[in-house]
Amino acid sequence: MKSMTLNAYAKINLHLDVVSKAENGYHQVNTVMQSVSLCDTVSVTFCDGNEIKLTCNIVDLPVDSRNLAYKAAELFFARVGVSRGVCIDIVKRIPMAAGLAGGSTDAAAVLYALNSLYDEPLCNEELLALGSKIGADVPFCIACGTKYADGFGDLLHSFPPMPECYIVVACGGDGVSTPWAYAALDNRYENFALDKYMPRSLDALRDAMKKSSLLDISKSIYNIFEGVIAPERPMVDVIKNTLADHGALSAMMSGSGPSVFGIFDLKENAEAAVKTLVDNGVSAFVCQPTSERF
Ligand code: ATP
Repeated sequence: MKSMTLNAYAKINLHLDVVSKAENGYHQVNTVMQSVSLCDTVSVTFCDGNEIKLTCNIVDLPVDSRNLAYKAAELFFARVGVSRGVCIDIVKRIPMAAGLAGGSTDAAAVLYALNSLYDEPLCNEELLALGSKIGADVPFCIACGTKYADGFGDLLHSFPPMPECYIVVACGGDGVSTPWAYAALDNRYENFALDKYMPRSLDALRDAMKKSSLLDISKSIYNIFEGVIAPERPMVDVIKNTLADHGALSAMMSGSGPSVFGIFDLKENAEAAVKTLVDNGVSAFVCQPTSERF
């Protein structure tokens, strides 16, 4: 049977700011996303019958169309006008509801695998457009690497790559629902009423990335969500302080949180930070930026 097994990479946001709130209630953003080597493993295998069957090592995760990976297969079959039995297996390692695009990357892997197994009926742009119907982060998870995104976070543009370094991704405490996080921002910033909110410039981060200066990158990262989520999730500051104590050049929340990432130039410091965090009951991983596609 035809089969494909992929690494579905997590993302962190090196920059995340809101530009405005559209009439449909969605927020337009400016963001720089970076794939990291922390990943789920997604296997897609053609099998007998006509059903989509999903298995996963996390029992709480739905295995029907509420799962973004299942939804991706449904959408692919509808778009291409085919239908067949397919077994999807997900080994989840990416913390969930954490701002790391765990569900989006699984969906992206399924779209990419099905398109490859069917000998690419969709070109790259068509695949990205299909992904954006599942969620704003899905196109980035198909593209991978380093990207600047605007619109609802689904319109991708090139950005200078992240230099080699070690990134600790850590997550403690309850997950955050993205709609709840946006509601908290609306409350703080008066619904981003026209001319009242000025988004941050990306120039410093772009220059730092062009120079491959880890120190300057560390000084230029920004996430608008941190100010509203950190007070609600005390583990955010606990993790940030632990990362700083172990020599992180800087640390910040990713996406709508509550996961935090720290940037390290030294592997041994990153590993020591993870050990301390894990000893204190926090999920933590050493990873690296990746430009690899699946
Ligand atoms: P994003 O950064 O894209 O906003 P997130 O990292 O905050 O996403 P996810 O891990 O994608 O959040 O999970 C958000 C919700 O999506 C969870 O509550 C979960 O029930 C649901 N979900 C559906 N499919 C998946 C999947 N394959 N993996 C993880 N969560 C999934």
